[in-house]
Amino acid sequence: MSFKSLGLSNALLKAIEKKGYETPSVIQKKAIPLILEGKDLLASAQTGSGKTAGFALPILQILNNEPPLRQRPVKALILTPTRELAAQVQEEFKEYGEFTNLKSTVIFGGVGANPQIRALRNGVDILVATPGRLLDLYEQGALSLSKVEVLVLDEADRMLDMGFLRDIKKILALLPSKRQNLLFSATFSKEIKALANDFLHHPVLVEA
Ligand code: AMP
Repeated sequence: MSFKSLGLSNALLKAIEKKGYETPSVIQKKAIPLILEGKDLLASAQTGSGKTAGFALPILQILNNEPPLRQRPVKALILTPTRELAAQVQEEFKEYGEFTNLKSTVIFGGVGANPQIRALRNGVDILVATPGRLLDLYEQGALSLSKVEVLVLDEADRMLDMGFLRDIKKILALLPSKRQNLLFSATFSKEIKALANDFLHHPVLVEA
């Protein structure tokens, strides 16, 4: 099976070729077509499985097919537990999106907020964030979440382990109710299942 047969457009196939990927990984084969169909996903995937491309590629394709909005509000929000993961995920969005007109940025705590606020002011289509800093900047009025169409919780189990459940719930309440939701987790504890029940809409279960 090739990336092309998963339904990805030329702009993305070109970036995949540049990265040197030859065949999609198991999670990519399963997740990409479902995400392109607009389904909610409950995905079990370990680091190293290629899960980031598994959600980044179809999200880029979905957004790239939409007419651009003048103010470039955030349309895809990816929440991650740590700043390292956030930076890594945004780097992948940048690489896979090289041949699209989409813009992504990353915000996380522990560093000055001003450069992040400036980047947000210029407009971004895809925002990768850690939960605390996202709420911080939202409360300061630095970004709008009213046009979010796709939400990803990446490494959801680690987010809960780090005590982000309250922040995640606050963020969920700020998003439009009609949206696509993707939850990626290495493990499925009771808590993850409860969270999934809370906000996923008829999710498809995907295992890598
Ligand atoms: P992840 O599980 O998303 O952290 O990805 C693990 C690593 O695999 C990353 O360095 C990716 O660049 C790489 N990768 C993702 N998809 C593929 C693929 N289909 N073929 C080869 N490498 C890949």
